[in-house]
Amino acid sequence: MKPGDERGAAGGRPGAEAGTDDGMGSARILVAEDDRAIRELLVHHLERDGFAPIEASDGQTTLRLARDGVELLLLDIGLPGMDGFEIARTLRREGRTTPIVMVTARADEVDRVVGFELGADDYVVKPFSPREVVARVRAILRRSGGKHDPGPKVRRFGRLEIDEAAREARIDGRDINLKPREYALLLALVSNPGVALSRGTLLERVWGFDYDGDERTVDVHVRRLRMRLEEEHQLGSCLHTVHGFGYKFTHS
Ligand code: CA
Repeated sequence: MKPGDERGAAGGRPGAEAGTDDGMGSARILVAEDDRAIRELLVHHLERDGFAPIEASDGQTTLRLARDGVELLLLDIGLPGMDGFEIARTLRREGRTTPIVMVTARADEVDRVVGFELGADDYVVKPFSPREVVARVRAILRRSGGKHDPGPKVRRFGRLEIDEAAREARIDGRDINLKPREYALLLALVSNPGVALSRGTLLERVWGFDYDGDERTVDVHVRRLRMRLEEEHQLGSCLHTVHGFGYKFTHS
């Protein structure tokens, strides 16, 4: 570090503090926030604690950088271009499991933030203490554990296997390469074996709350999914149509 460098003087780059002893010191954290003062404050505190923050100030940039791969996303809800809810849902739909900490300015948004459909790992409400945010980041990274997920969930139904950590559906041990939506749809159904889920419920879980498409979208995707399970594997019949309502998964 250069002498006189302001950030260096404030505490040093990776190596200076607690960030290194647990091996998460250089973790790339994406700070998505359009308020420059808040963004810089977070970046400063993360750097001081040994993390490697990168920055975005609008929705599209956030999505692009998150897709490039980061260890954690600190995501403001009120972003220009595409809001935090939409970004979180998009990333989850694409099968990305990057931990997300939502930053909200409104306490009444918290219910939506921790809601099932969003997949956020934690949240902070503005105004927050940057130290608290850094502590949350550290806790989540420790929990997610980097390479070794503590309990990757694999659901097995005969020859069919759903590996939630890898976001893979396998038959006879082989990945059948489902598209993200098909995978999400299958996961929603196998998570409730024998339970009929309405088209509306599936639409909400797989496409998200604000999706204004048609319920026929669900039919189209179930049909495709069934074909994928049926071709070569003859497992299409595990997806049942519940007429006038929706679909259910059964395993014989
Ligand atoms: Ca904002």
